Amino acid sequence: MTQTYTGRFAPSPTGPLHMGSLVAAMASYLDAKAHDGLWLLRMEDLDFDRNVKGAGQHIIHSLQRCGMVWDRDITWQSQRQHLYEAAMQELGEHLYPCACSRKEIADSRLRLGEASSQIYPGTCRHGLTAGKIARAWRLRVPDQNYTFEDRLAGTQQQNLATEVGDFVLKRADGFWAYQLAVVVDDAAQGITHVVRGADLIDSTARQIYLQELLGLPTPSYLHVPVVTNADGEKLSKQTGALAFDQGDNDILHDALIPAARFLGLQLAESIGSQEEFWNKATLAWKNKLDYTEK
Ligand code: GLU
Repeated sequence: MTQTYTGRFAPSPTGPLHMGSLVAAMASYLDAKAHDGLWLLRMEDLDFDRNVKGAGQHIIHSLQRCGMVWDRDITWQSQRQHLYEAAMQELGEHLYPCACSRKEIADSRLRLGEASSQIYPGTCRHGLTAGKIARAWRLRVPDQNYTFEDRLAGTQQQNLATEVGDFVLKRADGFWAYQLAVVVDDAAQGITHVVRGADLIDSTARQIYLQELLGLPTPSYLHVPVVTNADGEKLSKQTGALAFDQGDNDILHDALIPAARFLGLQLAESIGSQEEFWNKATLAWKNKLDYTEK
């Protein structure tokens, strides 16, 4: 029996949704509708320093104003920490404690003449230096290429050792890392199709490796283009992106139609209701065979 198409939108409640997040939400929603599938909403609220009070409720309200409906209870990652702990136990030997501070990592890169590299130099890989205290937990990665098919970008390949390095699963501040939680939850929630912004395409090989280690299935992936501002920067709270939901604005014309156009869907300005919008947008998405065939 084939598994029911199950997609999700997984915002981090660090601020209100902006046009960039609406585009990701809409793409995942339309893909689920086009496949007669389920669409889930998951709040990725594990970064307690970056969470903004009330942002989760604001996101929920904004999605409701868009007429988007999720098919299961909303999940909050902060309430699922036992699952991440269990996954860490399972990873066992693949993990190692790391005592390096950001400054020490930057300094050792300088020594190696690799100041611009983001790759962890492996200082703690073979054990902590005497007297050092573990701060974070890292996952040992193999010198191996991970390949996957992105439904839009095509075949992607990344060597985890040379392009990523051993990455953190439990942070020095004690918070669970996104890479671990997303893999655990996508599997626990039976997600078959991940549709999200292209800024996360670079994380996918790491997630596939974790799925392999934990014996979890790999969903299909589609990364949609990210919305940028006039300076070419990805819209984000840091770059000053505004909430698309201003409380009393015309969501259909201010947000939904422009987001759909950004996704390359041809929709008439004359659309009169949200219901009509979602019907026509789903049809238009279905017609974009590149997105929906696989
Ligand atoms: N929580 C992530 C974000 O807001 C998205 C995670 C995902 O879709 O995998 O950027």
